[in-house]
Amino acid sequence: MNRFELARATTPSQARELLAEKAGSVFKAGGIDLIDHLKEHLLEPPRVVDLKRIPGLDGITVEPDGGLRIGTLATLAKVAAHEGIRKSHPALARACGEAASPQVRNVATIGGNVLQRPRCWYYRLESYKCVKKGGDVCFAIQGENRYNVIFGGGPAFPPHASNAAVPLVAYGASFVIDGPKGTRTVPASEFFVLPEKDPTRENTLQPGEILLEIRVPAATGWKSAYYEVRERVAFDWPLVSAAIALKVEGGVVKDARVVLGQVATIPWRSAAAEKALVGKPIGAATAEAAGRAAVEGAEPMTDNGYKVDLVTTLVRRTVASLA
Ligand SMILES: Cc1cc2nc3c(=O)[nH]c(=O)nc-3n(C[C@H](O)[C@H](O)[C@H](O)COP(=O)(O)OP(=O)(O)OC[C@H]3O[C@@H](n4cnc5c(N)ncnc54)[C@H](O)[C@@H]3O)c2cc1C
Repeated sequence: MNRFELARATTPSQARELLAEKAGSVFKAGGIDLIDHLKEHLLEPPRVVDLKRIPGLDGITVEPDGGLRIGTLATLAKVAAHEGIRKSHPALARACGEAASPQVRNVATIGGNVLQRPRCWYYRLESYKCVKKGGDVCFAIQGENRYNVIFGGGPAFPPHASNAAVPLVAYGASFVIDGPKGTRTVPASEFFVLPEKDPTRENTLQPGEILLEIRVPAATGWKSAYYEVRERVAFDWPLVSAAIALKVEGGVVKDARVVLGQVATIPWRSAAAEKALVGKPIGAATAEAAGRAAVEGAEPMTDNGYKVDLVTTLVRRTVASLA
């Protein structure tokens, strides 16, 4: 790791100023993903601007209508343990509680989790100038791709790594961002972006902008769940995950959101699975149909066809758990 200066900001605007003073500087929240980048020389910033000391950015508020305002610095452990979130938005609490290990969850922030960079081997190794690092080639196409995507790839194929992002999309969250031109709020559907236009990014946060808060609408009348499949029980990223929210009236699904994790370069909303659910009686047959529909259009790479079967089963089981 190269030497760098550590600057501690106490307000978002001071953080932005400290960042702008030295080209190539970066923000740090919990530092879990950032330190990996520094150790691997993927980033060599002259200055690291620590956001952790900015007061008031780690709060969690339940609004009178049941909506959530989650400060970007709230740790994964805090979100997972929050009684209100566990009751009203259980998929979010579970996704945060399943991520990584207790040690990591006590340090990692929800903002940093959503903004963490992909886990693809080739991106993480300094020696590969892959398309995510401004190169011309996605080495996963011809190389090791068992953990890569089955939807929405090209020209880069790494899965979006964040657990929290999956239920945030399912609940229709939005992201409050502070930048030089003021504050803007971006819905999750516009925040995460496919690599088609610019494969070096996973979201629309601009350089120098700070994610301040995540707003999650009330989930009154919705049943929701998050499940993931991992290669091992110990801490690890999932192979696939699913956050599903259903509005059920009189035993019939009136509305559905099905979002898959670790299968695409963004949290992947499955319109086909949602269509298979809406208007149908909730039960085993509908769960089965949703599982099959969820993999429509999947394009596995050479070594990750197993993800198709995992998604089919995971969606079926998650819907069944809500029935
Ligand atoms: C062993 C291990 C297992 C893991 N397993 C999982 C898992 O199962 N699921 C999962 O989702 N994650 C997993 N992770 C990843 C971990 O959860 C993330 O690295 C962590 O959540 C990142 O949060 P952070 O606060 O440490 O972010 P940081 O590392 O501080 O920041 C991450 C990135 O976001 C930027 N950033 C952070 N906050 C802001 C902000 N407010 N505004 C603008 N930019 C910002 C930083 O500049 C940096 O680029 C695992 C990590 C480890 C080490």
